Amino acid sequence: MMEWADYQFSDKTILVVEDIDTSIKFFDAALRKSQANILWAKNGEEAINILNEKAKGIDLVLLDLNLPGINGFDVLKHLRKIEPELPVIVQTAYLFSGERKTSLSMGANGFISKPVQLNDLLSNIAKFLSPEVIC
Ligand SMILES: [Mg+2]
Repeated sequence: MMEWADYQFSDKTILVVEDIDTSIKFFDAALRKSQANILWAKNGEEAINILNEKAKGIDLVLLDLNLPGINGFDVLKHLRKIEPELPVIVQTAYLFSGERKTSLSMGANGFISKPVQLNDLLSNIAKFLSPEVIC
């Protein structure tokens, strides 16, 4: 079992795009331990605004697909136009209609399903933010 103590990302910035309060609380509690700097977007429009302003200062995006207004696929499409290399981990509860395949074909780097397991979240983030310690 991996521990957050092994993964300190105090020099990293993660953008979390998520609209549901219980999920926001989960990510907040989980990611706080990593000491990463967290930016929050509660819908696709906010996510796009933040990315337009400061994508260069972001190290990883945790992207929900099901969002009010502009959905996660459209955020991903926009993000790939302006930042082809920025790591994106898609997270969604909907696994029945090919979201994983579609996300990956649109340029997502990873995919985690909800309800998100802490260990799954940690290993996926570590893969991109500290690839040297992944086991
Ligand atoms: Mg959602």
